Amino acid sequence: METAFWIPPWLQPPWEQLLRQHRAGRLPHALLLTGIPGIGKQFLAEAFAAALLCQAPDDTGRACGVCEDCVLLQAHTHPDRILAPDPTEKSQEIHIESIRTLVAAESLTPHRSRWKLICIQEAHRMNAAAANALLKTLEEPTATSLFLLLTHRPGLLPATVRSRCQRLFLPTPPEAEALTWLQAQLPIEEAKPLLRLVHGAPLAALGLAKGPNRNQHDRALAGFIAVGEGRADPVQEAAAWNPIAPSVLLNWLGSWVSDLLRLAGTQCSTPVLHQAQEAALVALSRRLDPVRGHRYLRQIWEIEKTNLALLNPQLLYESLLIRWAKLLQSAP
Ligand SMILES: [Zn+2]
Repeated sequence: METAFWIPPWLQPPWEQLLRQHRAGRLPHALLLTGIPGIGKQFLAEAFAAALLCQAPDDTGRACGVCEDCVLLQAHTHPDRILAPDPTEKSQEIHIESIRTLVAAESLTPHRSRWKLICIQEAHRMNAAAANALLKTLEEPTATSLFLLLTHRPGLLPATVRSRCQRLFLPTPPEAEALTWLQAQLPIEEAKPLLRLVHGAPLAALGLAKGPNRNQHDRALAGFIAVGEGRADPVQEAAAWNPIAPSVLLNWLGSWVSDLLRLAGTQCSTPVLHQAQEAALVALSRRLDPVRGHRYLRQIWEIEKTNLALLNPQLLYESLLIRWAKLLQSAP
């Protein structure tokens, strides 16, 4: 990730598609970039914004990285690139005030360039009023503006907003391709299990390996096992999980339960994902009733599909862990 406006190599096809549309003068007013977390939506959006605003893109269409516009972009102070929500903001929801500010800025002519780029990250976090305010602007956009909506949960956006956007799905790369890239950043034996844990998203795997999340994950898994073994109290463990975002925790929980079900179903002795906890997982899998385990996994997936911003993490984790403890206690 050495250069400015890096484009993940596995996103080369969608990148080229965007450039082709740009060169043909056929860019829509709004693009909806979708794909699983850690696939690189943000990188693609940044690189494309830079390509449009840069004064001297290279022959392949990439921003130069050194002109005044590129420098402003990298400092996050370019007046024609508007970001919502404020990246420093911790709120789970995007409120109407943020969208109003952005819409007011959108209606002005660009300051420096031909384009005004409005980037809405995690667009599914818009509440109903915010989405409505955005919809009005999408219906009558300024000719020079391009909205980039980023989300891994397009289904949570109102259909009216989705229908105003051209959707660009960023596919998950084949495992071999992702591993080739990941193994240049991580020890080989770590790369594969991490990649599987995050459903094949290379940047999510790297983030997990390098970030504080790794310790959090290992501690949360240890707690999950302890509750299953009846050694820990579900409510106390839920409090320990509380700082972890539901989107992250539900993903982990799903992968732990999947691993257990694989072990329970196939009688193989090695967990696919979580080999460090092998002995404990094998023992738990023997007590797990596969039918009830699958039902539990489906419940996790159902919750993942809902608007997680509306859930209280503590209550959610308590209810999941209590169910988990009961599931194993009543096992034969
Ligand atoms: Zn430039």
